[in-house]
Amino acid sequence: MDLTGRTVAVIGAGFAGASTAKALSLLGADVTVYEQAQQAGEVGAGIGLRPSSLAAFREWGSLEAIQGVTSPSHGLRIFTPTSEPIHAEEWPEKDVFGLTTHFIHRRDFIDALLSVLPEGMVAFGHRLVSVVDNGDSATVSFQNGTEITADLVVAADGITSRVRGALFSEKPPVFAHEHAYRAVFDLDLIPGVFDDDNDFHIYFDVPTNRHLYLVPLKHRGQVSFDITVPSDDDTWSPKITRERLIESLAGFDDRFENVTRTIDLDTVNCRSAHDIDSINLWHTDSIVLVGDAAHAMLHHQGQGANSAILGAKGLADALRDADSIAAGLSAYQAARKPITDEYQRISRAGWDEESLDDGFPGQHGDADRVEA
Ligand SMILES: Cc1cc2nc3c(=O)[nH]c(=O)nc-3n(C[C@H](O)[C@H](O)[C@H](O)COP(=O)(O)OP(=O)(O)OC[C@H]3O[C@@H](n4cnc5c(N)ncnc54)[C@H](O)[C@@H]3O)c2cc1C
Repeated sequence: MDLTGRTVAVIGAGFAGASTAKALSLLGADVTVYEQAQQAGEVGAGIGLRPSSLAAFREWGSLEAIQGVTSPSHGLRIFTPTSEPIHAEEWPEKDVFGLTTHFIHRRDFIDALLSVLPEGMVAFGHRLVSVVDNGDSATVSFQNGTEITADLVVAADGITSRVRGALFSEKPPVFAHEHAYRAVFDLDLIPGVFDDDNDFHIYFDVPTNRHLYLVPLKHRGQVSFDITVPSDDDTWSPKITRERLIESLAGFDDRFENVTRTIDLDTVNCRSAHDIDSINLWHTDSIVLVGDAAHAMLHHQGQGANSAILGAKGLADALRDADSIAAGLSAYQAARKPITDEYQRISRAGWDEESLDDGFPGQHGDADRVEA
C-alpha cells in the first residue's frame, strides 16, 4: 500500500526507531520520531553490522553514510583466555549480498542513521507516558504535555518499552545473572592482537564463564571490549570498581589484564544483562513493536542491533505489500517473529564447551536461511 498521507509516530530514536523512520518515510508516510532524550547520546562500544543489515541500508540509500564509519571484517576467532587459538570461521552471510560484515562504533552508527533522516523528523525531549489504542489510530501522551494521534504508532522504545508493558506483556525483563563492561580504547594498548586480522575475537574462560569480546575499530585506531562475567547483582547500571574490572580478566592474556588496570573508569559502561521472554503478540491494528521492545535478546550472538534493523525492513516491506495497515502489521509479525524467537533462544543459551567448535551455534539453521 502507498503510505502517502498516513501519519506515523515512532517512539524512540535508537537503531530500530531511526531505521523504521527511514524505511517508512521512503514509502511516503508522514513520520515523526519522538525520543525521550534531549539529544542523541548513544554510549558504549562496537557492534558488527551483518550483510543483511547493510543490504537494507543500501536499499534505503543510506549505505554510504554508514559504511563511511566502519571497517570490514572477515570472520570471528575464538581463543582461550591466554590467546591460544581454538576456532576461526568466516561470517556466515559473507558475500550473500555482495557485502561483508562491518564493525562500527555505536555512537557513529546512531549519528549516521539520524543524519539520513529529513531535517526536523526527530522530536527530542518527548518521553511517552501513555498510549491509547483507538482502533484505526492511536493516541500518545508525552511527559512534556504534548499529545498526538497517528494512523500508526511504532514502539521502538527498547527493552523496557512502556508500550509493550501497557498493551502486550506486563512481564519485566529477565536478568541473566551477568554483568557486561564495555569501553573503547586505543588499539596500540594491545600490541600484536590485531596485526594480522580484522576479525571479531572471543576469549572464553570455560570454568569461570567469563568472556572477553573484542571488536576492532581500525578506522578509529581503536578497539572495543565487552567483558561479560557472572554476577547476581541485578542493578540495571551497576557501578564498576577498579578491583572488579581487574578481577574480571584475572588470568587472561597480560595485554588484556593491563587494559583493565589502566583504562579510565569513567569511560567504562557497566550494564547487567537482561533479555525478555518471547511475547505472543507484537501489534494491534494501529500500534506495533519493533527492535528490543519486541524481542530484546542477550548480546552473546551479536544479533540485537541487526534484528532491530531487519525488523524495520520487515515492517516496511509488509506494509508496502499489504492492502491495509492492520494486514501489514500482521504480515510483519508472521515474517519476523519466528526468526527473532530463535535468536532470543540461542542468545539465552549462551556459549558452552561444545559450541566453541562452531562460531555460530544454531545460526546455520532456519534463522539464517530466512534472513538471507
Ligand atoms: C552489552 C551489550 C552488547 C551488545 N552488543 C551487540 C552487538 O554486538 N551486536 C548487536 O547487534 N547488538 C548488540 N546489543 C544489542 C543492541 O544494543 C540492542 O539490541 C539495540 O540497541 C536495540 O535497538 P532499539 O532501537 O530496539 O532499542 P534502544 O537502542 O534501547 O533504543 C530505544 C530508544 O527509545 C528511547 N525511549 C525509551 N523509552 C522511551 C519513552 N518512554 N519515550 C520516548 N523514547 C523512549 C530510548 O531513549 C532509546 O533512544 C548489545 C546489547 C548489550 C546490552
